[in-house]
Order: sequence, then C-alpha cells, then structure tokens
Amino acid sequence: VSGRVVLPTGLEKSLTAQILHTYETRLFPSAESIEVKRAFIEKFATVLVSEFPDWEVDIHVFGSSVNGLGSSRSDVDICLTTKHRMLEDVFLLSSVLRKYGMCTYCVPRARVPIVKAWDPELRIAADINVNNTIALHNTRMLQTFVAIDGRVRPFVMAVKHWTKCRDINDAAFGGTLSSYAWATLAIHFLQTRQPPIVPVLHPPAPSLRADKCTDASPVDLTFDDDITRLRDFGRDNTESLGYLLYAFFRTYAFEFDYRHQVVSLRNGCYLSKAEKGWDQGRPSRIFCIEEPFSTWLNLAHSANETAVEGIRQEFQRAFCILRDGGSYDNVCEVY
Ligand code: ATP
Ligand code: MG
Repeated sequence: VSGRVVLPTGLEKSLTAQILHTYETRLFPSAESIEVKRAFIEKFATVLVSEFPDWEVDIHVFGSSVNGLGSSRSDVDICLTTKHRMLEDVFLLSSVLRKYGMCTYCVPRARVPIVKAWDPELRIAADINVNNTIALHNTRMLQTFVAIDGRVRPFVMAVKHWTKCRDINDAAFGGTLSSYAWATLAIHFLQTRQPPIVPVLHPPAPSLRADKCTDASPVDLTFDDDITRLRDFGRDNTESLGYLLYAFFRTYAFEFDYRHQVVSLRNGCYLSKAEKGWDQGRPSRIFCIEEPFSTWLNLAHSANETAVEGIRQEFQRAFCILRDGGSYDNVCEVY
C-alpha cells in the first residue's frame, strides 16, 4: 500500500483537535511538576555535597525533563560526571540516597548501570547513572528535532502517551520499548514524510555492525544543531497532527516490513537488515530501530518476537479504532 492515506470524513480535524486537547490539558508538564523536579535536583545536589564534600561531581539532567518530550509524570534522568570512579559503583550511591530517606533499586549489570530512586517526600522517581555521557548527546539531538517544527512535540508526546496507556513502553521490565525508542521511531516517521517535516541531522557515515563494535568503540557525536537555520524546515509539509498519527498507526500496522527493514533516524530512511548484519539470529526476528549514534545497537532489542507481535497488534488496534469512528481517548484506553 502506498500513496497518500485517505482519512474517513471529518476524522482529520477532530483527531487533531483531540490530540491538541490531550497535549494541552494532560501531557504538557504542569508548573508544579517542573517545580518538583527542580526541588529534587537541588536536594540531590545537597546530598552529594554533604556526603562527598571534597569530590568534584557534576550533575547533568537529561532525558525528557529537558528534551521537551516529558509530561508531568515523567521521571528525572540524571548523569553524574566525576573522576572519582568509586562512585560508578551504583551500590555506593544507592546506600547514600537511602540515608536520606529515598527508596532505591540498583540495576548494576545493565549496559548502563543505574540507580532507580524514589523520593517519597517529593513523590518523584529518578534514574541516575555515573559517567555515562552518551545520553546527554542524544538528549540534545531530540531537543533539536523538537525545536525544528511545532508538530514534533505534540506528535511524539501523543505517541508516547498511547504507548504508556497500552503498556508497551517498558524496555527494562516489560520487555517492550523504551520512551527513547518510541521517540526515535516517531521522529523518523516525520523525517520520512513527503516532503519531510524534519531533516537528517547526522553526517553520512558507514553503518557500524554489531559484530565489529563494542561499547568501547569510538562514536561520532557530531550532528547539525544549528536551530536558527533549521527552524521551519518542514514548512512545505502541511500535514496535520491527526493525519500524521493516523498514517503512523497505519504504517506500522500494515506497511512496515518487520522481518527485513531497519528504522534509521541517522540516515532518514529504512535500511535493510542484511546491510546491517541483522539478518541472522535474534535481530532477524525482532523489530530493529538503529541507535542514531551507536549505530551497532538496536533500540528495540528489549522486545522479543512475541512482544513485537503484540506491538504490531497495538498499531492495528489503534488504526482500526480511528478508522471505525473511535477517538484518541479510545485508542489510549488503559490496558
Ligand atoms: P520518559 O518521559 O518516559 O521518562 P525519556 O525520554 O526520559 O522519557 P527514558 O526511557 O527515561 O526516556 O530515557 C531517558 C534518556 O536516556 C533518553 O531520553 C535517552 O536520552 C537515553 N536513553 C534511553 N535509552 C537509551 C538507549 N538504549 N541508548 C542510548 N540512550 C538511551
Ligand atoms: Mg525519563
């Protein structure tokens, strides 16, 4: 199936209005939630100064608290940078936070070890890593996409909201996809519209293959972040939010070839699994979304074959609800 998607009469306008209504009333972070995040970071800084008065430790906030894609309920993602590598032991950080009344849970063996913290006083969750700065760059990349076209933010937030309501946004414990993977997929969709709504930001580079790379492999962190020049790049495309969401659901329900294609935000197109070396073993059977910087990593690695089938069925369900006259709220009915 190709060409322009035709929406049922009246759907485009009403769906656009519903998405904007949800975005403005429920997704856009409240002033109170922003204040809670600020208070948490201040408290966390005070804890670090009290516990490690002679250590130089910098606090960097990343993820959806700063990339423009966070809601009131998003957690705070924090990266600490320090030359005192003892702090990379997540159990040390965890025990410190517990002294100050926080509940913690360590994930020490993940590719990026983290401490998950919950502050019962401020009622906020945080994911904290030490010296893993790569996410600071992809956060800035998402910020750049958000700044380029006014549709990016409500569109990606509408997609994220749907995935959270339908329980398909939990890479770590649910075996589905992370918010970062969903945001990458949604922005790639905007990049591949005709004409495109957002550009390719990365310089052309050969794809790095999983069998030739490790976490220690050098990563090219450059990308075009000249927002003044890129702003309104998508002005020739007049597609509405309603149209985009309907077409997005249709694409991943019926058109995308999960067996053979790879979503590449870095290149602004689909690549083949064969050219990435992902046509063998586990990657050949699952959803493949290339990490834009560390291109040998599959952001959808967390979802197995059954989960991918579940995700595809969620796309179909969402599409069919809208096609048959249902609303965005029906699409997002909690699972
Ligand atoms: P949410 O609003 O759901 O918290 P988020 O954008 O903060 O959304 P998280 O899943 O909390 O998403 O991840 C935080 C950040 O960590 C992402 O924005 C991204 O910068 C980075 N990140 C997450 N997963 C990966 C990954 N697999 N590879 C590289 N960076 C990642
Ligand atoms: Mg987050």
